[in-house]
Amino acid sequence: MAKSKSPKRRGLAPAEIYHLWMVSGGICTFKGCKERLVANNTGKLTNAGIIAHIIGHSNNGPRREFAEEYGYSEEDLENITNLMLMCYPHSKLIDDTHTKDSYPPDVLFEMKKEHEAWVRSWTDEKRKSLAIVHKRLGPPLTTLPLTEHSSNIMVEAVESQSEFRDFSKEGWEKGKEDNSKLYQKFVAKINKGKYDVAEVYAISPIPLLIHLGSLLSDTVPLTVYQYDRENEYWVNKTPTTIELEELIPNFSFVDNKSKELVVTISISGIVTEEDVHVILGKDKDQFNIVIENPHIKRLLYSEQVQEIQKIFKDKVEALHLQKRYDLIHLLYTGPAGLAIELGRSINKNMWPEVAVYEYKYRESPSYHYALTI
Ligand SMILES: [Zn+2]
Repeated sequence: MAKSKSPKRRGLAPAEIYHLWMVSGGICTFKGCKERLVANNTGKLTNAGIIAHIIGHSNNGPRREFAEEYGYSEEDLENITNLMLMCYPHSKLIDDTHTKDSYPPDVLFEMKKEHEAWVRSWTDEKRKSLAIVHKRLGPPLTTLPLTEHSSNIMVEAVESQSEFRDFSKEGWEKGKEDNSKLYQKFVAKINKGKYDVAEVYAISPIPLLIHLGSLLSDTVPLTVYQYDRENEYWVNKTPTTIELEELIPNFSFVDNKSKELVVTISISGIVTEEDVHVILGKDKDQFNIVIENPHIKRLLYSEQVQEIQKIFKDKVEALHLQKRYDLIHLLYTGPAGLAIELGRSINKNMWPEVAVYEYKYRESPSYHYALTI
C-alpha cells in the first residue's frame, strides 16, 4: 500500500484546528455547499467535519505533484493555508480518483479564498456558540444544514443522540436522567465562559423536550432551531422572502372548580375532548389553546413559537395565581422547538408539578402519561 511510503503527518495543534474552524465559519468550504458542520463534545471534529488537503500529503495523494509549483515542501503540507474544512461528501469528491481532476489546486485555493472572504464579510458580530443536539428519534445527526448563514459559529456541541425506545415508566425516568446529564455537561462548558450564545437542535419525543426546556436556564442567550422537514434544513427567524400565514390562536377555559388544570395545546393536530376525558376524566379545569387550521406545517419560525409560548406562560400563570392548582396536566401536539420553549416557560418556583403526556398516533387512547416536571 502507498501508505507505508507516505511521509509522516504532523498532527494539527488544537489552536490550528480552532483557527481553521473559525475562518471557515464551521461551514463546508466547497463552493455552493452551506452544510454546517458539527463539532462533537470532545471538541474534536466528528467525521462530519473533514480537514481536507488541497495538495495531498501522501506521496501519490491527490494533487501531490503540484507541491513544488505552489511552493510547498513536505513539512508545509499541514500548513493551514493548504487545508480546507469540508463536509464528508465534498472531501471525498475532491479526492476521488474519478473526480479529482476537476479540482486542480487553483480551483480549490480559489474556493478557500472566496469562502473565507465570505465568512469575514459577515457584517454582524460573529458569536461563538455551544450547541445542544438532542436527537432521540431516528439516526443521529452529523450535519446541520442551514439556509442562510447565522452569525454564530458553532465551536462545540454536546449531544444526546441515542434513539429513545423504552416508553415505559422507567424509560421516561431514564430519559429525564439523560437530560439532566446533558444539561450538566452543557452548563460546565458554558461556565468556562468561552461561548457567547447557545443553540438547540432537537428531534425527540415531545415529553423529553418539554423536560429539557424546563432545565435550560438563561445563562447565555439561547436560540432554539426547528427542523423544516419539507426543505430539510434548520430554521429560526422567518426569512424575509416568506409571508407567514397568521396563526390566529384561540383559547378557552372551562372552570370545574377542580384543583387540577388540564392544558391542551393544538398546533400540528388537535387534542380532542375525548382524548382528555378518556385519560383524565371530565371533572378537571381545562385551558385550551388551538390555532386556526392546525396541521403539521403550520408553525415553524421563532416569531410564531413566541406567540404561542407567551399565551401558554401568561394564561397558565394567571390561572394558577387565581386558583392555586395542585397539579397541571399538559397535552401538546406541535413541533419540537415549541416543546422546548413550553418547557422553558415552566417556572419551578411558582408552578405546581406539571404532568406531561406523550401522543401516540393511531393508538387509543392517543395520549399516555410520560413524566412529571
Ligand atoms: Zn460540502
